[in-house]
Order: sequence, then structure tokens, then C-alpha cells
Amino acid sequence: MKAVRYYGHKDVRIINDLEKPKPSGDEVLLKIGGAGVCHSDLHIIDEGTVVGTTFTLGHENAGWVEEVGQDVKGFKKGDAVLVYGPWGCGHCKPCQHSNENYCDHQSEQAYGGGLGLNGGMADYMLVPSSRLLVPIHDLDPVIAAPLTDAALTPYSAIKRSLHKLMPDEYVVVIGVGGLGHVALQILSEMCGSTIIACDITPERLEFAKSLGAAHAINSTDKNAAEQIKKITGIKKAKVVLDFVGATSTIDLGTKIIGLDGDLTIVGLGGGKFEYNMNGLPFGVSMTNPYWGSRTELMEVIGLAIQKKIHIEIEKYNLDQALEVYDKLRQGKIKGRAVLIP
Ligand code: NAD
Ligand code: ZN
Repeated sequence: MKAVRYYGHKDVRIINDLEKPKPSGDEVLLKIGGAGVCHSDLHIIDEGTVVGTTFTLGHENAGWVEEVGQDVKGFKKGDAVLVYGPWGCGHCKPCQHSNENYCDHQSEQAYGGGLGLNGGMADYMLVPSSRLLVPIHDLDPVIAAPLTDAALTPYSAIKRSLHKLMPDEYVVVIGVGGLGHVALQILSEMCGSTIIACDITPERLEFAKSLGAAHAINSTDKNAAEQIKKITGIKKAKVVLDFVGATSTIDLGTKIIGLDGDLTIVGLGGGKFEYNMNGLPFGVSMTNPYWGSRTELMEVIGLAIQKKIHIEIEKYNLDQALEVYDKLRQGKIKGRAVLIP
């Protein structure tokens, strides 16, 4: 079968002769409908963050059950499903709570398909346990694939701050790409706060406004923080969601976050933050959330089925993977690219 494989730092190859896996026990073989192309792949490829192993890329996966192992119950051939991405041990307390994204054993093992283990940029994908599949009913797997990360990650990040996102508060979204464009829709749907978006091109700022941002600011403007504080007034932002995570965006976040606010760094842009007692208002919580839980993925599917969120999708075939990664590097993908076998 065809697959997009990671061989090491800056070495991705499309091959045609990978053996089609055979499921056993609780394993499930999926026929892939779509695999989303996430910026995290670029961190792996360009920074070589995974070493010493070769695997199929793609951690945002959806498709149809093709074949089940002898112990699988509740799934049959043809069922449309999403693959929950962060694969935990399945037994520790966080995993029992469905928070496999915070599995106690995360530091001991490769933690998901496309992230050290074989993912979904291929004709078929072997999922190690039926526990990791979530039915999507009538949703199309091609369109639904990015729900597993581009929607789940912002959903989980927003949910932890939801009690602070009242109608008289301000929330700032930095980076209106794959994750950020869904974050804006989730915020519009789930809270009454005024939404301010930041990105670096006029096109992205217009895109943000079309998705519910009341204001859109170019974060490369020297006075971006001042422009935002002019909107919020003295209270500043209650929540900042940074989907870039560069030093410059973290720095912007520290300037615009208000007292008792949440400064949430989702992006893995390698930014640095130096704690300074007087550099942050009192009561600020800084956090770096990772992905979301299995049950939160079910909630995200609920939002998609009700058409309360939609992912802006660009469709490509597997042979175009390298070209798509280049486009993503250059900031030329609007919303999310999905590879279709
Ligand atoms: P993307 O490339 O689709 O979008 C990034 C967006 O940020 C683009 O619109 C780009 O124009 C904008 N941007 C770049 N520099 C900026 C700046 N200085 N100020 C404002 N905007 C800027 O990326 P994505 O797939 O949405 O991923 C975003 C980040 O989140 C990546 O670092 C990715 O690795 C990370 N991520 C983290 C998790 C997690 O669980 N923590 C999960 C998925 C992705
Ligand atoms: Zn991702």
C-alpha cells in the first residue's frame, strides 16, 4: 500500500510497497478516508524531534473500519470513525478518565500514530485498540479527520477557561491557521466574550473576522499590544490562546493578559519565556495544554454534527504530501489540508 513515511530529520518519502497490516486481538484496520496535515508534522520533520525510528506520518485520521481483530466488539466493517490521537497506556488514572493525552506513561512510549508509530497518511492504518475509535455517524471522514486535533486541541484548551469567558470579557486568539480558525468558531459558539484575533497577513485577519472575531490585529505591528489594550481597556484580556508559541507571541500574550487571566500556549513554536515577578499581572495562570480527552472528542463531534463548527478544508492526494508540507511551511494553507488516499 502507499504511505507517506518519516525517515528522520528532513527526510520524508512516499512509498508504494508498505505491507497492508492484519489486525488481531483488539486491533482494528481502517481504510483511511482522510488524514489532516498538522503543523506539528513540520516540527517533527524540520526539527527532527523524533529520532531513531521510521513511521507513517499523519495523526489526524478518519476512515471506515475495514477489518477487526477477534476480540473487537461494537465495530463492524464499513463503520465511519475518527481515530483518537494521543494513545496512552489505557490503564492509568488519567487514561481511565479518558485523558490519554496526559497518560502517566507518556514519557516512556511513542504516543500515537503519526507521532513515532504508524499513522494515517496511507491507504490503511492499524489502530492498536478499538478503545481509540470514535464513531462519526453521518459525517464524511474526509471532512471530519481534522476534528481529531485541529478541533479537539482548541476545544480542550478553551473548555479549561470557559468559566472565565463571560460576555463582559475579552479573549485573544493568536494564529488563525488549522487550530486557530476552529478556535474562533468554538469561542463564538460557547462563550459570549468579545473575540480579538491576531495573525500576520491581511488575508488571515479577514478570515478571522468571517469566523467570529470582532477585531483582527496584525501581531507584527510594533504597537499590536497597544492596539489590543485600546480595545480591552484597563482590564486587558481574560484569556489569551496562543496557537503559535514563538517568543514574540508569548511576549505579546504577557503584555495583553489581565489580572487572574489564563495565558494558554498551545503552539509548539519553540518560544522562550523568562519569569519575572513584575512581568505578569497577579493571578495569571500560564499553561501548555496538550491535545484533548477521548470524551472531549465526542463533544467536538457533537459540535460538527450540529454544524456549529466547520473545518475549512483543502483536499490533496497522498502523492502531493511533500508539496502540501511546503505550502504549510510557507503559510499558504487556509484552514487545514487533508490527504486523501
Ligand atoms: P498552521 O500553520 O495551520 O497555522 C499557524 C497560523 O499562525 C498561521 O495562520 C500563521 O499565519 C500564524 N502565525 C505565524 N506566526 C505568527 C505570529 N508571529 N503572530 C500571529 N500569527 C502567526 O498551524 P496549526 O496546525 O494550526 O498549528 C499551530 C501550532 O500548534 C503548531 O506549533 C502546532 O505544532 C501546535 N499544535 C499543538 C498541539 C498541542 O496539543 N499543544 C496540537 C496541535 C498543534
Ligand atoms: Zn497535530
